[in-house]
Amino acid sequence: MDYYEQLGVSKNASADDIKKAYRKLAVKYHPDKNPGDKEAEEKFKEISAAYEVLSNPEKRARYDQFGHEAYTSQGGGGGADFNHAQDIFNAFFGGGGFGGGGGFSFEDLFGGGGGRRRNPNAPVQGEDLRFDLTIEFEDAMYGAEKELQIPHLVRCDQCNGSGAAEGATKKNCPHCGGTGVENVSQGFFSVRQTCRACGGKGQTIDKPCRSCGGSGKKRITEPVKIRIRPGMDSGNQLRVAGMGNAGDRGGAPGDLYIFLTVRPSRIFHREGNDLICEVPVPFAVAALGGELDVPTISGKSTIMVPKGSQYGRVLRLAGKGVPSLRGGNRGDLHIRLVIETPVDLNKEQQELLKKFQESLGKNNTPQHNNFVNNAGTFLRSDKD
Ligand SMILES: [Zn+2]
Ligand SMILES: [Zn+2]
Repeated sequence: MDYYEQLGVSKNASADDIKKAYRKLAVKYHPDKNPGDKEAEEKFKEISAAYEVLSNPEKRARYDQFGHEAYTSQGGGGGADFNHAQDIFNAFFGGGGFGGGGGFSFEDLFGGGGGRRRNPNAPVQGEDLRFDLTIEFEDAMYGAEKELQIPHLVRCDQCNGSGAAEGATKKNCPHCGGTGVENVSQGFFSVRQTCRACGGKGQTIDKPCRSCGGSGKKRITEPVKIRIRPGMDSGNQLRVAGMGNAGDRGGAPGDLYIFLTVRPSRIFHREGNDLICEVPVPFAVAALGGELDVPTISGKSTIMVPKGSQYGRVLRLAGKGVPSLRGGNRGDLHIRLVIETPVDLNKEQQELLKKFQESLGKNNTPQHNNFVNNAGTFLRSDKD
């Protein structure tokens, strides 16, 4: 069953449809409403995992692109564990960040009282990580696959994240009495803050895990494969779910965000999905018209320079620009003509050019004549 089927929505369901479907199912299958019902709990985990992906436009696009099998076989994209499912549920119904979706609490839903469960042992999601990646211009044009080495904190496999060595006993933190918070005086006030002795855990361990020193986490470097899609640009981000740091007390890991910078090209200048290329043209070709070889990202192209082309003239090659990330039309390539004045002329060439210049009439250089006229008028009026 794919995520769409699990939520009972179609592949082109709107964000609102998905929200509604999840809300209905999450309320129906929540374990507090179905105590001891393993099937309901499984179902709750499934729909939470489905909702987590489909409610996030980036994750949903990746899921649609790679398919259920490929997506869920990647780290972090698969089924949520129960704590994670509960996190998703709380985020949804807690009213935080879901405009229009929240506004009422879990207790309201089931008519239960007793306040919200906010204890120091609640799972905490791990931190998101940022990785800056510079790619070549060509990678952004043609797409590329990259393998990155990402250092991040993972759950310690020796103690399974508890931080305790085998046979160790946990006892309440003597500093905070197990509450995880302490009162600190600041001037006239007493402020409650996270206990510094136990880091808010409320408990201390007599024998910490040797492998992780009691933190429950280890820093490792893992390879992460990412795909650069053709058309990506500086400022684009890629998100790899679950490759951030490990969470605390069973909380889900954070995500990894890869921030792209594209190295500029030596010949193309990019503006949105258009490319601009300045091409030097011999002045005789600009005057007489003729063929000109130009580079494009799909190979060499030959264009016609119209006779009498002036410096800076732009010729457009439709659809020879940057591929569209969103599947639309490619941008255009603009060839900007840079008329090159010949240098280092020998005697014979200089004579030829002089003769040529003497042969020119007023109609051969209309811009020059126009300017001379305007300048003459300006200078005369200046004297008055
Ligand atoms: Zn450990
Ligand atoms: Zn403490």
